[in-house]
Order: sequence, then structure tokens, then C-alpha cells
Amino acid sequence: MATLDDLPIRDDLKGQKPYGAPQLEVPVSLNVNENTHRIPETVAVDIISRLAAAVLNVNRYPDREFHALRAALANYLGFDLAVANIWAANGSNEVLQHIFQAFGGPGRKALSFTPTYSMYSLIAQGTGTEWVGVPRADRFELTADLVREGILENKPDIVLLCSPNNPTGTPVSLTVIEAAYQAVSESTGGILVVDEAYAEFASDPTGSALELLAGRERLLISRTMSKAFAFAGARVGYLAADPAVVDALRLVRLPYHLSAFTQAAAEAALAHSSEMLAMVDDIKSQRDRIVFELKRLGLDVYRTDSNFVLFGGLADAAQVWQALLDRGVLIRNVGIDGTLRVSAGTEAETTAFLKAIAEVL
Ligand SMILES: *Cc1c(COP(=O)(O)O)cnc(C)c1O
Repeated sequence: MATLDDLPIRDDLKGQKPYGAPQLEVPVSLNVNENTHRIPETVAVDIISRLAAAVLNVNRYPDREFHALRAALANYLGFDLAVANIWAANGSNEVLQHIFQAFGGPGRKALSFTPTYSMYSLIAQGTGTEWVGVPRADRFELTADLVREGILENKPDIVLLCSPNNPTGTPVSLTVIEAAYQAVSESTGGILVVDEAYAEFASDPTGSALELLAGRERLLISRTMSKAFAFAGARVGYLAADPAVVDALRLVRLPYHLSAFTQAAAEAALAHSSEMLAMVDDIKSQRDRIVFELKRLGLDVYRTDSNFVLFGGLADAAQVWQALLDRGVLIRNVGIDGTLRVSAGTEAETTAFLKAIAEVL
């Protein structure tokens, strides 16, 4: 049997590791920021009936431009967005890959502020785009000055701002986003991608970069149905931008990349968006409970505007991670010294985590 080293793979892929958050069968799984609530049964029934209708036409390719889904996404986002402003793919990771394929690639550079979402550097790698990580300030915060200097110094073609940031939870103000847009426009005329995977969990719903879209044709705002929408298994991510950006992404996507089933399921879910998002307030209150209880245990809890919490003050994070797993609770070691990240679950799951961590400490 051959190993990877025996194969003629690209030189730049040699020795690389694939994305690999553990997928383990455990009673309490709070490691990848999923919405741990099941979708409502009434919505499930509607999804099934639309999938059943789609099966009858599965001999035909699906709508390559997924008009109905884009119309539903535009309607969900508001801000007078139209079908022409919307793009979608199999998870926002694929949306990001389309962006890198169209605006990055060999000879081009992508930049973000680290620690941040680990897929950015992996997608850069996969598309042959040079990757620059500029360290964040104290407690992983960003300021307009830090962002501006990082961009002017490195001259990237793509800037990614994760808002709120994964894995730290840190919110990003519109002032910082405007400063980033201004800086990248001045330095290379490149694009700014704001990744709002967790936008629905924000304490200030008016803080979305969608507010800034009008008149900024190089601003791209990426969203996903994987988190607040409780739809991670369906693989649906999307983006709002100027119609010209959408035309650029159309150059690199594979034809019919969104299956008829994906389109039908997502359209059904969006038709029930308020029911799908019904648990968001509950998740936010579980998150606030985690913040409160971890502080009470004397841990160092980072500011979060998301459905997860990064906490530090651990002498040996790997040992705490293992001891929690031994108690049936899976959370995430994101590789930041002395810290772990936990997703807010249902009330029962959150209680199980809080009980386990109190025991472990
Ligand atoms: C979870 C997550 C995504 C979503 O990925 P999907 O491919 O849509 O499931 C995107 N960006 C960030 C920062 C995330 O944490």
C-alpha cells in the first residue's frame, strides 16, 4: 500500500495536514460551534415534501443559477438586496474557496488577523495563494490602527475579517471594518471579505457589515446556514456583494455546484426562518451562563459575541480537554496556549459541561 509520500502530489501540499476537528461519538458534543438543537418537526416535514418533489425531477440538472434560493437569501438578509447581490455554495467554506479562486491564486496574497478561522490559511494553501497572518492585539482585539498598518505593510489582494472572530469570539466594530476597506482600497485595490458566520448571535443586530455594502463594490460579506440556522449537515453558505463580484465567482464555480436537493432543502428552511432561528435567544443565554460560571471558577474568559466561549487560565489545556472527554464532554483545543473553546449547547448540555469542568478543576 502506498503512503502520501509515494505519490506525485504538488510540492506545496507535501507534509500538510487536512482540517481535522475530532468527530467522536460522545454524549455532549460542543466542539465545532454547531447549533445543538434539532430543527422543528414541522419544518422537517416541509423540507421532506420539497425534497420529494425534487426527486421527481432529478433526471435533470438543477437550476445552475439557483434563482429561487438566492431570492430567499436576499429576502432573509434584507437591506434591499436583490438576487444579483447573492451567491451561495456548499457551505461558506466553498464560498471562500470561490473567492480565493477568483481573487487569489499564485502571485497573490491573502491576509487575516490571527488567531482566526483555520480554514483561511488552508484555502490559501489549496489555491496557491500566499498567506499572511498578522497577530491581534491584547486579548485578541482589533483596532482600526492595527488593521490599517497590517494591510498597508503587507499589501494583500484579499483581506479576511472574521466578525465575530472564530476561535476567540471577539466582535469587530464597523469602524474597524471601514478602516480595513479603506486600507485595502488604498494599497492594492483588493477585496475585503467579512466572514459573519455567527452574525445572528450578535448582541447588536445593527452591527452587520451589510450596513456598509452600498457603494463598496469590493466588500464581500459571507454568511452560513450552518450555525444559527441549525443546518450544518445540509452544507449551505452564502455571500452578499456587488453583482460584479457574483459574476466573478461564476467564472470559477463548477456548473450545477448546488444540487437540486440542497436548493430545495435550503429554500424550505428559509421559508421558516423565524422557526429555524427560534433557539438563538436560548443559545445566547446559555453562552452568557457559560461566561458567568467560568468567571466564577476563576477562569479568564474572553469577550464573545458568538455561540461559543474561549477561556484561558488553564495550566495544562490538553489535560483539561482530555479530562472533560473522559466525562463525555467534547470541546475544542484550538492550539492557543492555556485556553479551550466551548460551544453553547442546550441547557442540559451546558449544565453537563459546567458540572464536568468544575469537577476537573
Ligand atoms: C463555522 C464557520 C464557517 C461555516 O462553514 P460552513 O462551510 O458554512 O459550514 C465559516 N466561517 C467561520 C469563521 C466559521 O466558524
